[in-house]
Amino acid sequence: MREIKDIAIVGAGLGGLTSAIALRRQGFNATVYEQSSSLSEIGAGVQLSPNAMKVLRALGLEDEFRKISFEPDRHVVRSWKSGRVISATQMKNVYEREFGSGYFGAHRADLHKLLAHALPEGTIRLNANCIDVGTVDNHAVLKFTDGAEIRADIAVGADGIHSNVRNCLFGKESPRFTGNVCWRGLVPVEDVPKGMFAPDMTVWFGPNSNVVHYYVRGGKLINWVASHESDWSTESWRSEASIAEVVEAYKDWHPDLTKLFAATKHCYKWALFDRSPLSNWSKGRVTLLGDSAHAMLPYLAQGACMAIEDAFALASSLAADRQEPNAALERYEGLRRDRASRVQSAANARAKVNHLTSRWARLKRDTAYAWRKLIKPSSHTYQIEWIYGYDVTKE
Ligand SMILES: Cc1cc2nc3c(=O)[nH]c(=O)nc-3n(C[C@H](O)[C@H](O)[C@H](O)COP(=O)(O)OP(=O)(O)OC[C@H]3O[C@@H](n4cnc5c(N)ncnc54)[C@H](O)[C@@H]3O)c2cc1C
Repeated sequence: MREIKDIAIVGAGLGGLTSAIALRRQGFNATVYEQSSSLSEIGAGVQLSPNAMKVLRALGLEDEFRKISFEPDRHVVRSWKSGRVISATQMKNVYEREFGSGYFGAHRADLHKLLAHALPEGTIRLNANCIDVGTVDNHAVLKFTDGAEIRADIAVGADGIHSNVRNCLFGKESPRFTGNVCWRGLVPVEDVPKGMFAPDMTVWFGPNSNVVHYYVRGGKLINWVASHESDWSTESWRSEASIAEVVEAYKDWHPDLTKLFAATKHCYKWALFDRSPLSNWSKGRVTLLGDSAHAMLPYLAQGACMAIEDAFALASSLAADRQEPNAALERYEGLRRDRASRVQSAANARAKVNHLTSRWARLKRDTAYAWRKLIKPSSHTYQIEWIYGYDVTKE
C-alpha cells in the first residue's frame, strides 16, 4: 500500500492550522483548504490550559505564544451580586510544576496569526469551499464549489461545528441549540478604573448566567464573555449587539461588571450550540478533528484545547503507521474519542452548576467548594486536574 504522504485539511481554524503544523513536523505534505477569502479570527479571547500548552511546546511554539498572551495569577469564582470570592485557585507559578505547563489567555487573532505564520507559504488555500468528500480507490477525494477536485491520502474535516465533512461521512445532523447565549467584548485596560480587575481568570456565578473575564495580549486588553439562558438562537460570531442590552440584562449584578460592559466599544452576541458525542470519527480515508467531531459548550474553555490535542494525536498516529492508514486512524480515534467525549459532557454539565438559581442549591455548591479547598487548598474548584494534567505528546 502507498505510504501516507498528502493530507488535505478542510478548515483553517485553530484546529486545522495546528494539525497542519503537527503533520508537517512529521514529514507529511499537509495542505489546508479554507472557504473564506482571507485568513482571520474573530475579536475575542481564547484560554489555553496546560494540556494544550504542552502541545505548543512540543511544536516549538510555546515561547512565541507566551509573548502574545497573558498568564493569570489565579482562577477565581465570585458571586454575581456581592462579588464575594467563592473559591480561588492559584495558577501562576504552580501549574508549571503541577501540570507541566502554565495557563494563558490570548486574543484569538494573535494565536491564529502565530499558527498561520508557522506554516510555509502556499500551505493554506483560500476561497476553497469543500462541498463533498469521500473515499475512492484508497484515496480521499474532495470537491469544491469552483468545480475543483483534489485527491489526498487522508482528508481531515477541521471545519467546525457546522461541519460539512461530518455530514458527508455520517449524514446530515444539525447541531443542537443549548438554550445558552453569549455576549462578548474586548476592552483596553486604560478604559476601566486602574486596579478594578485583578490579573486573574475570573468567573462570576449568578442565576441563569455567568460572566468570565481575563486579560489577553500581554495584559493590554480585557476579554469578557457573558453567558446566559435565552431562546435567541442565531449562531454567528459576528452579530453585533448593543451595550445597552448587556448593561440592562446585568443591572442587578456587581457594579464593576456594569463598568466593564459600559467601557466596551463593540459587543457581539451569539447562541451556543453543541453536538452529541460521535461513536466514530473516521470513514475510509476521511476523519474529523476539533469542533466537527466534538463541539462543546465553552464552560471549561476546552474546545480549542481539545482541537489542539487532536491535532497532535492525529499527526503522531499517522506517523506511527504510515503504511496502514486504517490502523493509524483507528489509533487516532482510540487516543481521542473517550477523552473528548468526557470533556464534552463535563463542559455541558458545568452550565447547570454555574447558573444555579435556588439559594439553597448555591449554598450547597459553595459549601462543597469550601470543604474541598480546606482539605486540599491547591485543588481546582472544578476538579479538572484530569484535563490539565494530561499530556498527549507523551501518548
Ligand atoms: C464563547 C466561547 C468561548 C470559547 N472559549 C474557549 C477557550 O477559552 N478555550 C478553548 O479551548 N476553547 C474555547 N471555545 C471553543 C473554541 O472556540 C472552539 O472549540 C474552536 O475554535 C474550534 O476550532 P476548530 O478549528 O475545530 O473550528 P473553527 O474554529 O470553527 O474553524 C473551522 C474553520 O473551517 C472553515 N470551514 C467551514 N466549513 C468549510 C468548508 N466547507 N470548506 C472549507 N472551510 C470550511 C471555517 O471558515 C473556519 O475557518 C470557546 C467557544 C465559545 C463559543
